[in-house]
Amino acid sequence: MSKQFDLSGRVAIVTGGNGGIGLGMAEGLARAGAAVVVAGRKAAKSAAAVKALEALGAKAAAVEADVTKQDACKALIAAALARFGRVDILINNAGTNIRKQPQEYTLEEWNSVLETNLTSAFLCSQAAYPAMLKSGGGKIINIGSMLSIFGAAFAGPYGASKGGIVQLTKSLACAWAKDNIQVNSVLPGWIDTELTQAARREVAGLHERVLARTPAGRWGDPADFSGIAVFLASGASDFVTGTAITVDGGYSSLA
Ligand code: NDP
Repeated sequence: MSKQFDLSGRVAIVTGGNGGIGLGMAEGLARAGAAVVVAGRKAAKSAAAVKALEALGAKAAAVEADVTKQDACKALIAAALARFGRVDILINNAGTNIRKQPQEYTLEEWNSVLETNLTSAFLCSQAAYPAMLKSGGGKIINIGSMLSIFGAAFAGPYGASKGGIVQLTKSLACAWAKDNIQVNSVLPGWIDTELTQAARREVAGLHERVLARTPAGRWGDPADFSGIAVFLASGASDFVTGTAITVDGGYSSLA
């Protein structure tokens, strides 16, 4: 591995790192030498992810956390510091969706999507900031979506949260560039995970539409996110901040 991409000695936290895209990113960081803390609500799933990361030769730990809660975000950072002594990389990946027409959402449903997808990224970033300052810099990677840029009838709160992720990313990047903290977002196309397996069950014809519209001609795989995670977490991206990078097999380039 080129030194530019080497993450030896770095400590990363990945929210929702126990499965799907988060685990794909965590595996990339682990292979590049980082110690990885995976945060999620399901302890057994997180324990299995830790085993998978350790099998790659990395140090890894699981922290049970509901990242919609400010105290839990603070406790997550504290746990990473207690276990590994520093925090260099934060991936705000935890996410959820409730698919309905806009007129059907309750306020509780709206709030739960916004809190899981957007407020959590703000809270974890805010909680990680002092530790990153102490490390002399840091890397924050926020996970957006194609619905950061496109609309969908069934995704009012989700689209609002993911559009918000892109703008939050820019503000954090502007505020913290002086502290050598780079903040970027990654916008996945359609990726085969538990989240989209549910979407395929609930939205008729989705599977075929995704295949037809994706120039790469396939669904993405969590492993497709290893490389972008390493790039945005490493010295290779030190002059890249505030941007939103699509990882979508060309989905957003097709007219
Ligand atoms: P998964 O459902 O596999 O992953 C979601 C993860 O978020 C789980 O690991 C879950 O862990 C965690 N999570 C959810 N709520 C909370 C919470 N309150 N506190 C802590 N962790 C939480 O889906 P994906 O891998 O597909 O999604 C990952 C991210 O990628 C999301 O932000 C999603 O919106 C985004 N995305 C996905 C796309 C796709 O096509 N799959 C496309 C575009 C964006 P646990 O259950 O243990 O809490």
